Amino acid sequence: MKLKAGIGYDIHRLVAGRKLVLGGVAVPFTKGLLGHSDGDVVIHAVIDAMLGAMGERDIGRLFPDTDPKYKGIRSVELLKAVMARLAKKKYRVVNIDTVIVAQSPQLSPYINNMKRALTPILKVGKENVGIKAKTNEGLGPVGRGKAIAAWAIVLLKK
Ligand SMILES: [Zn+2]
Repeated sequence: MKLKAGIGYDIHRLVAGRKLVLGGVAVPFTKGLLGHSDGDVVIHAVIDAMLGAMGERDIGRLFPDTDPKYKGIRSVELLKAVMARLAKKKYRVVNIDTVIVAQSPQLSPYINNMKRALTPILKVGKENVGIKAKTNEGLGPVGRGKAIAAWAIVLLKK
């Protein structure tokens, strides 16, 4: 058995007139994340962690934002595509852990929904999906509510 760990990071600008989607869940808010897809930083960080664990390049290589095919795509669809890639290489997810850094909105009421959205795609139990939300203590662009960032670590088993 071979174990492989990967790390991922992502950040998107918060802008008016977009739906906020985090961890595959729509979160009611006055702004949303700017992006070619739905801008789901949590899923993008998880995807980059998976690609990193497999020694592959990043999400931008796999799903270029110059490709109209991915315009407005739900990031859960991108995650499903990466899971298929992972399965083809005979990998399975052992567990993932993530940190969402957002000054607002308050994300704790949505964490369980995010876990429910992600566990069937990742094919793991709820106890193997960590999602934690924190503010940036008012510091920097994330702290001023200009952006939301996410970190992820993934452990894969071959
Ligand atoms: Zn992204």
